Amino acid sequence: MDDPVEQGEGAQDPDGDRRRRNHPRHSASAGAAARFVRNLVLIAVIGCVAFLAAGLAYGDPRLVGLLEFRVGGGDPADRSAGSGQTGQAETTGQAAQPGVQPGAAGRAADAPPPGLEESDSPLGTPEPPAERSDSYKFLAVNADGTPVGYSPCRPLHYVVNADLAPEGAAGLVHDAIKTVSRATGIRFINDGATDEQPSEHRAPYQPGTYGDRWAPLLVAWTNPDVAPKLKGQIIGTGGSTHYSYGDGPKTFVTGSLELDAPQIAEELDRPDGAAYATAVILHELGHVMGLEHVDDPVQLMYPEIGAPDGLASGDLNGLQELGKAQCRKDL
Ligand SMILES: [Zn+2]
Repeated sequence: MDDPVEQGEGAQDPDGDRRRRNHPRHSASAGAAARFVRNLVLIAVIGCVAFLAAGLAYGDPRLVGLLEFRVGGGDPADRSAGSGQTGQAETTGQAAQPGVQPGAAGRAADAPPPGLEESDSPLGTPEPPAERSDSYKFLAVNADGTPVGYSPCRPLHYVVNADLAPEGAAGLVHDAIKTVSRATGIRFINDGATDEQPSEHRAPYQPGTYGDRWAPLLVAWTNPDVAPKLKGQIIGTGGSTHYSYGDGPKTFVTGSLELDAPQIAEELDRPDGAAYATAVILHELGHVMGLEHVDDPVQLMYPEIGAPDGLASGDLNGLQELGKAQCRKDL
């Protein structure tokens, strides 16, 4: 693995996040040099993504016992379901600590009523990739080998905190989400603006803010002061929270994507800035949906290259598989 941050599984090396980039910020003359620097930037970008992604994996109760490092700390929420089984919510960067808390009449205090907006069948159909490729990996898989993803039988709501969004950048997020929606078949619903700020310990259920449902996917244009993981070269982070009953199958219920608005504003000043920013957003959305890095440099999920061409065959095949995740009326 060439990702300096992901290597060692700890993302524990803070130096890897803090190399300064020294390219001329207002010069578009040196194509090769610019691309090299671009790649350096993306290494850092993806390093941080790996940080969160790894945290998600470490939250897996099947993994925490096997891995030495954990990313961050947390206070996982436990609940009991109507069946009496144990449930647990795990957020990126948090360690899982299974437990039981008595719930009231089949309804846990830290979760919305199950099955909201859940249909009997997937709401959409993934657009078949132009070519087959197995050049993709999942952040987490269930015991039966199926990838952990979002239920395709309910819409995935999202909100955007665009207070700091660079001029002309807001549309990039919506376009990228449309692209991912086509690739997965997942139906996204734009719930509009939010003033919610990103948090490493974001609660997946926030009835006071979003009503009696799982919190929507949060897309936040922010900065390192608000989101410390964006310090240094890091330009974006992303991840999702999965939920399960005991050792049962996991399904993502919400997620977040943080974009470093000042850095992206600089990138957008470059000739192909929009394509680069889009590649970053798509890469992060790939993680949100459940894709892990791959060693294939052609793919957008490769840790070191910001493929300006967008999603490649492996990315698309992986997203298609994620769109086949099982429906969850019980969540
Ligand atoms: Zn990544």
